[in-house]
Amino acid sequence: MRMADLAFTEYEALVREKSPIVVIPCGALEQHGPHLPLATDAMIPTMLAERFVPAFGGIVAPTFTYGVRSQPKSGGGNHFCGTTSLWGSTYALMVADIVEEFGRHGVKKIVMLDGHTENQPFLVEGVERALVNLRRDGITDVRVIRLAYYMAIDAKLQATLFPDGLLSWDLEHAAVMETSVMMALSPSHVRLDRIPDDPPADFPIYETFPIDPAPIPCHGVLSSAKSATAEKGRAVVDTLVAEFSDLIPRAFR
Ligand SMILES: [Zn+2]
Repeated sequence: MRMADLAFTEYEALVREKSPIVVIPCGALEQHGPHLPLATDAMIPTMLAERFVPAFGGIVAPTFTYGVRSQPKSGGGNHFCGTTSLWGSTYALMVADIVEEFGRHGVKKIVMLDGHTENQPFLVEGVERALVNLRRDGITDVRVIRLAYYMAIDAKLQATLFPDGLLSWDLEHAAVMETSVMMALSPSHVRLDRIPDDPPADFPIYETFPIDPAPIPCHGVLSSAKSATAEKGRAVVDTLVAEFSDLIPRAFR
């Protein structure tokens, strides 16, 4: 059930009568190599949410497609053409405004389903600010869950994705996991002939400002995605959809 497709009267009736869980997918518009779309971090949580909300009669709200500034060690950095980001402070205020609006309209259960690492602290700040503001207005019964979908990839899924061992989750940007999941969820969005297969990025332990582009591969992928397959992606999608179908309604009980 997509909120954006509903008439306000239908949405209002649902909120009043069913107190549904509303899932807000949170992503980014960030380069994901030459083989994946810029909106990959937004598309994955959106497509997952559309698959698991029917299990509990939930609603998928429009996705936050712009995210917090990309960093070299997690997303390649903000200097890539098309990586179109918000400052964390702007993002936190945007999240706060939207969560507050949902709270004011009577939504009690909200899930922020995140697909972009850099969003994390600012997403939390936005949610906390919204709850403080709502409380001031006497609305005290809104609960929000922040859930980064990739945190649910357990040891078993990790072994499926990386039969020869995982190099580093930090270097998985646009690599095996995201490429496999996109192959499963939306194969037409993956340019199979353009998957780079280079050695992993070699970053120093420190960070340099202004950003030093030298250790960042020019194609933006931080480790090889060559071993991505749709089968691996389906294993992740099926496991996460089953897990979230059960975990999310339980978290609100
Ligand atoms: Zn990503």
